[in-house]
Amino acid sequence: MKITQYFLLFTLCLLSLNAAAKLLESRVPGGIAFIQLDNTQGAPHFTFKNKPLLITQQEGKTIAVVGLSLSLKPGEYFISGHYGNKKHLVKKFFKVKDKEYTTQHITIKDKRKVNPIKQDMDRIIPEQKRKKKAAKFWDNSTADVNFLTPIEGIMTGSYGRRRVFNGQPKRPHSGMDIAADKGVPIASPADGTVIESGDFFFSGNLVYIHHGQGLITLYAHLNTIDVKVGDKVKKGQIIGTVGETGRVTGPHLHWSVGLNGTWVDPDLFIGND
Ligand SMILES: [Zn+2]
Repeated sequence: MKITQYFLLFTLCLLSLNAAAKLLESRVPGGIAFIQLDNTQGAPHFTFKNKPLLITQQEGKTIAVVGLSLSLKPGEYFISGHYGNKKHLVKKFFKVKDKEYTTQHITIKDKRKVNPIKQDMDRIIPEQKRKKKAAKFWDNSTADVNFLTPIEGIMTGSYGRRRVFNGQPKRPHSGMDIAADKGVPIASPADGTVIESGDFFFSGNLVYIHHGQGLITLYAHLNTIDVKVGDKVKKGQIIGTVGETGRVTGPHLHWSVGLNGTWVDPDLFIGND
């Protein structure tokens, strides 16, 4: 048996033994705010910046789980909504603190992956539309926020880093990079439905899973995809394998987690502070 096979077995064991992590709160740009709601007045319906929010129960409390975008300025914000059929508008205020993210310089050999030519743009523009649509998917199904780790590996590119590709500043990193060998299986961290999948210019082989109420996970640069759009997946189910497709410097899993239409820090879902 080769070392990689041992590693695969080891990974599978870890996945099956790995208890779900408890979601952490962090009121910073790119973080998550837990806003306690009243559980005596009927079903809550709340929004943040006009996007519907995930509502869950924690230790007998009703909580709105609010994704805070990376571009949010520190300051005071509010969520608003109502209970049941009541018309009365309720506002809940909260504060967002500052957070500094570091800068990372990356060299990409395939220059077209940094400065796409016209022919590439014809492919990229419709792909961006599909990605935007998937990122704001919403339905009212129950969401399990206590995730399993999708793979075991070394975290190499932290969420929120400002990135400079071949000397050119690009958008900050919207997910977590996990270094792993090509072929390592990737598990869905919670029950969900596959809402988008395909081979994309920058992201390579890509899968989006909706876990309920706008909680979305994204897996990029895959070697193989083992699910298709419309599939229901179970927590721990293998959805594909690690690869090096799209804009990469080596095999790794790019993993993003979205809430109310914004990508937040995946560390908060796997118990890392
Ligand atoms: Zn990445």
